[in-house]
Amino acid sequence: MFSKVNRPLNTLYSGLRRYSTATDKFTINVNSLVVEKTKTPLPKYTDKNKLVFGKEFSDHMVEVAWDANSGWGVPKISGYHNLSLPPSASVFHYALECFEGMKAYKDANGKIRLFRPMENMNRLYKSAERICLPTFNKEAVLELIKQMVLLDKDWIPEGRGYSLYLRPTMIATQKSLGVGTPQTALMFVIASPVGPYYPEGFKPVKLLADDRYVRAWVGGSGGFKLGSNYAPTIFPQLEAAKKGFQQVLWLLNDQITEVGTMNMFVFWKNNDGQMELITPPLSDGTILPGITRDSIIKLANQWGEFKVVEKNFTMSELAKAIKEGRVKEAFGAGTAAIVSPICSIHYKGQDYPIPIDAAKGAGALTARVADTLMGIQYGEIPSEWSVVLN
Ligand SMILES: *Cc1c(COP(=O)(O)O)cnc(C)c1O
Repeated sequence: MFSKVNRPLNTLYSGLRRYSTATDKFTINVNSLVVEKTKTPLPKYTDKNKLVFGKEFSDHMVEVAWDANSGWGVPKISGYHNLSLPPSASVFHYALECFEGMKAYKDANGKIRLFRPMENMNRLYKSAERICLPTFNKEAVLELIKQMVLLDKDWIPEGRGYSLYLRPTMIATQKSLGVGTPQTALMFVIASPVGPYYPEGFKPVKLLADDRYVRAWVGGSGGFKLGSNYAPTIFPQLEAAKKGFQQVLWLLNDQITEVGTMNMFVFWKNNDGQMELITPPLSDGTILPGITRDSIIKLANQWGEFKVVEKNFTMSELAKAIKEGRVKEAFGAGTAAIVSPICSIHYKGQDYPIPIDAAKGAGALTARVADTLMGIQYGEIPSEWSVVLN
């Protein structure tokens, strides 16, 4: 009798596959979902104010195995557990992995909400395609996520700024050192209770724009949420931190691309003297298509109070605009922080300060964007972007 840990993956997951009645290899059959409630609940946080991002995980996880011959197997929700994989699995060698980052929120009435979750499904689909991992019916994955969130709803900390961070992931599990299309894969979803990014009000960040490193390039994979995009960013991030900068501003031939793992926005008076919110365009594939980014562009367009443009701009142009006092605000945008105000950029040996409202810790627009998005996420502002689960 093999112990579970030593069983090869194809037998480990064959039990999941057996009862699937999926119609094709890229369809997950939600109706066959097996829910196995945990018999060993995890120790739950006692003080939500002490939560550290991504360190604690909720009781359950979703798993669906895929095989090139039989397609997606039976989806399963069971207790959070370790995976058993052969050391030869391609995910360990060639980083065949993609992921998503999204949140479940509990509103003041106890309703559980997701924010534009189908956008995460669309992006996961594209990321999977980019590295030849199997595609899937997006509604099914979203339904599995909803079921898991409802099962673990007591793990969603209450209050504005608190949430259950969800991490849908797909990995290539096949035993093979050959660089090639995976024949087996595993999709899983885990969840981590998190607190507000800025528990005591905004803390503006200082950036280092270091042109020795490039995060993404034209023709590369920067526009997809692949694990392989992130490992090489840690070393430059550490170097920046040693010099006293909290984040890296990623440049590509002097063009501004992203800040850390966030999309970059600048609110400035453009060369024609008009107020403009600018962010780099998605067209060349170097920019991760952030859902927060898209939401901010749509909101700002609805407000209609200033120009909103998706256009490339360079660090030299930004430095010049800062010197001329034309830059009013700059911020990063992403699910984890919503917005992260920027108070200075270090570039070619010089510091370029960006105005910050000392009382708020952020500019007026940055604060308004954060407040509006949070209002929608917590159901205070009615919007079809917020999807109620219960
Ligand atoms: C995830 C991510 C973002 C933000 O995307 P959201 O959908 O807004 O969370 C931005 N840039 C990079 C590099 C990312 O990985």
